[in-house]
Amino acid sequence: MAQNQWTKQTFTLNTGAKIPAVGLGTWQSQPNQVREAVKVALQKGYRHIDTALAYGNEHEVGQGIKDSGVPREEIWITTKLDNPWHKRVEEGINSSLKSLGVDYVDLYLMHWPSSTDPEDLKKHYPDWDFRDTWRELQKLPASGRVKNIGVSNFGIKNLEKLFASEDFKTTPAVNQIELHPNQPSPKLVDYCKEKGIHVTAYSCLGSTDSPLAKDKTLHSIAEKKGKSPQQVLLVWGLQRGTSVIPKSVTASRIEANFELDGWSLTDEEVKQLNSLPDRFKVCGDAWLPVKVFFGDDE
Ligand code: NAP
Repeated sequence: MAQNQWTKQTFTLNTGAKIPAVGLGTWQSQPNQVREAVKVALQKGYRHIDTALAYGNEHEVGQGIKDSGVPREEIWITTKLDNPWHKRVEEGINSSLKSLGVDYVDLYLMHWPSSTDPEDLKKHYPDWDFRDTWRELQKLPASGRVKNIGVSNFGIKNLEKLFASEDFKTTPAVNQIELHPNQPSPKLVDYCKEKGIHVTAYSCLGSTDSPLAKDKTLHSIAEKKGKSPQQVLLVWGLQRGTSVIPKSVTASRIEANFELDGWSLTDEEVKQLNSLPDRFKVCGDAWLPVKVFFGDDE
């Protein structure tokens, strides 16, 4: 059997574009750390960087890209429209492009299905929701500044609402959602696959202070394979057909998270990881002015 070469693999989106299977996450990567992290990652071979206007680090991410010496066209850049910018899609993308120092991004995501009022972050606009935002996002690829558009933190209920909207034309290329063995959401992953939407797994290691880092089943599988628990989590995500975007600002971890080629998990190991009983969610919706998770996609 041919051995997996995950770090060279891409997933083909419904637009025909190819998203590299492994990327570097940058949420909570401080501006003074992320420039170096991005450079280290690109020099290691990563070709996919995930950022967002809301992370406040697009400028330094852009600097790291330049420092790396890797040509822009070899890199997949994803960024996201922030919630209080839903009525300002043009301004949002222009701000991100300027901060990143690039003239296009490969993927532009609606970060959350919440059109938050910038005057009061506890309020949702009464006259605008994510369907209006999507109507505006659909216009962007024609401008060349955005190659693909997608969504993030969309469950089945909101995807159905989007598909049923009057102005709906373009199926999102990607839905970026929280996924790890303690939040596997198989129903939502299958639904997206059925609709031709590629899924990117965020918080794929369980995020900061991950409870998964202590999981006994994960540790025993990692030990048996001579891999780290984090490498096992990444390969678990990749074998499900999702791209993974582990975040680290530590050079040795950035490198280790990209050492995924030439081995795979057996069906039995996947089954064990799919059956972990614990559940936790890193990113809930309590901080938003609208509910976005309905508990039916798990
Ligand atoms: P994550 O990638 O699951 O985990 C990051 C944490 O794991 C950091 O504390 C990192 O520490 C640590 N870590 C990384 N590699 C490690 C290793 N090999 N061994 C031990 N610890 C390791 O968490 P995340 O940042 O929540 O998610 C990943 C990315 O997904 C984000 O950065 C962001 O780009 C994206 N995301 C998107 C959304 C959304 O709403 N769309 C939400 C959350 C995240 P150090 O950095 O200190 O090394």
